[in-house]
Amino acid sequence: MQKNKIIVVGGGYAGLRAVEHLAKNSQNDIVLLDKNPYHFMQTEVYDLIANEEDFAQVSVDLFTFCSGFNENVVFYKQDVTNVDFKNKKVITDINRFRYDYLIIAVGSRTKFMSNVIGLKEHAYGIKALHRAMYFKQKFEMSLFRRVDKSGTSCNALNIVIAGGGLSGVEIAAQMASFSLEFYSNNNFICRKLNIVIVNSGEHILKGLDEKLVVKSDIRLKELQVIIKNNRKVVEVTKTSVKLSCGEVMHMDFMIFAGGIEPSYLVHALDIAKNNSGYIISNKFLEIPDCKNAFVIGDCTTIYNGNDEAVAPTADTAEQMAELCAKNIDNLINKRALVEYKIKSRGVLIALGRGYAVAKIFGMYFSGYIAFVMKKAIERIYSKKLDNRSYKGYKKIFKD
Ligand SMILES: Cc1cc2nc3c(=O)[nH]c(=O)nc-3n(C[C@H](O)[C@H](O)[C@H](O)COP(=O)(O)OP(=O)(O)OC[C@H]3O[C@@H](n4cnc5c(N)ncnc54)[C@H](O)[C@@H]3O)c2cc1C
Repeated sequence: MQKNKIIVVGGGYAGLRAVEHLAKNSQNDIVLLDKNPYHFMQTEVYDLIANEEDFAQVSVDLFTFCSGFNENVVFYKQDVTNVDFKNKKVITDINRFRYDYLIIAVGSRTKFMSNVIGLKEHAYGIKALHRAMYFKQKFEMSLFRRVDKSGTSCNALNIVIAGGGLSGVEIAAQMASFSLEFYSNNNFICRKLNIVIVNSGEHILKGLDEKLVVKSDIRLKELQVIIKNNRKVVEVTKTSVKLSCGEVMHMDFMIFAGGIEPSYLVHALDIAKNNSGYIISNKFLEIPDCKNAFVIGDCTTIYNGNDEAVAPTADTAEQMAELCAKNIDNLINKRALVEYKIKSRGVLIALGRGYAVAKIFGMYFSGYIAFVMKKAIERIYSKKLDNRSYKGYKKIFKD
């Protein structure tokens, strides 16, 4: 019996969930392609930056992960540069792969707006592991320098975070919480740290539940994070940030969490995209006019019943992946395809050590209990991937 050749482009939250589901059918021959050799758990980047986790804990090796399946999954570290949808071929920097079914799950990247002078040159993004690592080291080194110089000088450390969405808020809270503990545990004399969130909207966490927004706002203020709403960053230099209101702030470093755009592969693809450049999908998550090709995760925009865009989260990406795997199975077995009905199952916002706020299946939680819930969800997710990866590792190094 001929096998179904399935290519999954992108080993993120969406891609890996699709692989897991498709691999259950031994007639599926799956190739996973990613430009990086690892899966990066972006949802835990706040812990990486605040030294709660190291880079090994927020990544999973894709070679060993794929080897952990029953021989029907293989991984190649290759950068996908285009897709020939007509001839069903995926083109990478070094190869061409034929497919029967294709899933594009290349996610999104930080959008460094070109109209903001100096942004790309002087701000850090956190959507890529190497960028998050640079930033983590810079943060730690800056804290050390303040301690090293204390006794002779005590200048404040100024950190600016542009973007008051989920990632900006989580990182601000975690850094503030970490620094407060760091200074007080060590009784350092120089304790001046300013963390400022610059947010273009009227309040932080636009689009999220009002109660969560209010609680997060209170918590950030308790952690001494300064929030500047209704302002945009218009210019960045090595040492300063200029805001749309004219204010110029001194900064030691800046994180940009103020916008995302689809991965560069999406720009190269000759298919329909929306005004923001995301791939258009139909209600079955197929790419219109491209036979047997699907798109899932952050690189497409989907809508709920009220025509509101569904927030691009790991939760959304995984639900899309499950439906996509089911629809590929339906296509193979000549069954009708299923429409997506994707709803957020919950929102958990980490706000520093031992504190989170959450809304899960309509119920609110805050404080330590919400923190434990968030940690438990993260642990379950990473444990599952680690187990698979360990199985693959043992298989590769049998002796
Ligand atoms: C700081 C931060 C905190 C977050 N917190 C949460 C949270 O608490 N809860 C939540 O649900 N979501 C959260 N998110 C959002 C979540 O991380 C994303 O929605 C999720 O990663 C989307 O999954 P994805 O599979 O579509 O893309 P990704 O996870 O970004 O994966 C895309 C993959 O495609 C690969 N790729 C890209 N281009 C190519 C190419 N040309 N060739 C080959 N491979 C390619 C990449 O290397 C990557 O492995 C957070 C995001 C950030 C940045």
